[in-house]
Amino acid sequence: MSIDTVIEAARAFLGERLATNTALREHHSHGQDTQPPVLPDAVAFVETTEEIARLLALCHAAHVPVVPWGAGTSLEGHVTPVRGGITIDLSRMTAVLDVSQADMDCRVQAGVTREQLNTHLRDSGLFFPVDPGTSACTIGGMCATRASGTNAVRYGTMRENAMGLTVVMADGRIIRTGGRVRKSSTGYDLTRLFVGSEGTLGIITEIQLRLHGIPEAMSSATCQFATLGDAVETVIAIMQMGIPVARMELLDEVQTAASIAYSKLEGLEALPSLFFEFHGTAASVAEQAKQAEEIATGFDGRAFRWATDPAERSKLWQARHDALWACLALKPGHQGVVTDAIVPISKLAEVILGAQQDILASGLTAPIVGHVGDGNFHTIILVPPEPDGLQRAWELDKKIVARALALGGSCSGEHGVGIGKREFLETEHGADAMAVMRAVKQALDPRGLMNPGKIFLN
Ligand SMILES: Cc1cc2nc3c(=O)[nH]c(=O)nc-3n(C[C@H](O)[C@H](O)[C@H](O)COP(=O)(O)OP(=O)(O)OC[C@H]3O[C@@H](n4cnc5c(N)ncnc54)[C@H](O)[C@@H]3O)c2cc1C
Repeated sequence: MSIDTVIEAARAFLGERLATNTALREHHSHGQDTQPPVLPDAVAFVETTEEIARLLALCHAAHVPVVPWGAGTSLEGHVTPVRGGITIDLSRMTAVLDVSQADMDCRVQAGVTREQLNTHLRDSGLFFPVDPGTSACTIGGMCATRASGTNAVRYGTMRENAMGLTVVMADGRIIRTGGRVRKSSTGYDLTRLFVGSEGTLGIITEIQLRLHGIPEAMSSATCQFATLGDAVETVIAIMQMGIPVARMELLDEVQTAASIAYSKLEGLEALPSLFFEFHGTAASVAEQAKQAEEIATGFDGRAFRWATDPAERSKLWQARHDALWACLALKPGHQGVVTDAIVPISKLAEVILGAQQDILASGLTAPIVGHVGDGNFHTIILVPPEPDGLQRAWELDKKIVARALALGGSCSGEHGVGIGKREFLETEHGADAMAVMRAVKQALDPRGLMNPGKIFLN
């Protein structure tokens, strides 16, 4: 069976939702990354698990590659259909299927965005905490990349918050993994296998999620430092003291200046900054804040500047989420390469100050920003519109990743592997562990049709 036969057969049950027009294929030819785009042969806008199962069975029989698509916000070439085939767009699967206030969990279709979910939960007293910097991303995409965000230091990542899944396998079989209980010791943990698998093992169609109670008290603050080193040492000390911060984000002086200009932040100077948030009872929030402020003072931090009312607080966190756009506004005409590395917390100062030296030596502009409470940080390398611009950016990225790996870290804390990080995987995991991963891939996708060209170099 050829790709044309598959398209014709799929059109019989998808109708107009199986698109082959150039505009839609171009839109699905890349994510938010700098990998070369490749057009899929067709894009299928699916609405049910059963439609996906029929489509995958067809593609499996005809050896046609498939690429799952949530919102296309991933940053490492994850959604580029390098071997063409059919991109399966789940963005119309937006039903919140069930919310249990008593059990503090919910079940959603994979195309629900994190913003849609929290809007749905608005009056329930519950919220879903995992918050990547773009509100457009889908819960399915977030599961597939094992995403996290500013709240992960307190509430965990998709790894901790996805309790169970419905998955369509490469040959069209439908399975359910995990469940609704807080723990279980029955069999292999398939939920954790699919979370972070980047569409290379199956397509996630429904997710059972853990929810959290909206805290009684929340307060946010900023603190500025004379040097980046002082800001990072403050983070390390706060984590080592075990203060349960809900969010602790670092912005170097370049990022702070960019965010002041882009997000109209008041009362901040172009200095290294930490943004904090504390959750709990009024008394525990006050206690946590006092301890954190004392530690910051010990590293010459200025007094905390509080964002007290909800509007001010959300302006602060929106500014943090808009960091990428603030950077791009610094140099119109430049692209952004977003790096992502993570180290054990004790190595954070070494890795970040090393990255700052690398950036200086490269002659590129690359603000540093990060979820530092987890030991995770990003640089947003602004790529000059010159023939070797991208090459220079990727070289800088490699240096930063190499240092993180040498310090016992990982080449990605949250963005995943896609195409961009494949070359580092063997260094990070070792050849034998990579062979085991390949064996898993071979067992679940023997024809190599599920999002080919991702995670593995060949
Ligand atoms: C401005 C900006 C800020 C960001 N900040 C963060 C951040 O703070 N933290 C973070 O973790 N990430 C961040 N990201 C990256 C991105 O938002 C995440 O990787 C997100 O999880 C991708 O979701 P998506 O729905 O867009 O997935 P897509 O980009 O559509 O897909 C991502 C991968 O998952 C696969 N996939 C998608 N849906 C499914 C499914 N249902 N079943 C199986 N596989 C599937 C795709 O094939 C692909 O491999 C940011 C991106 C941008 C543009």
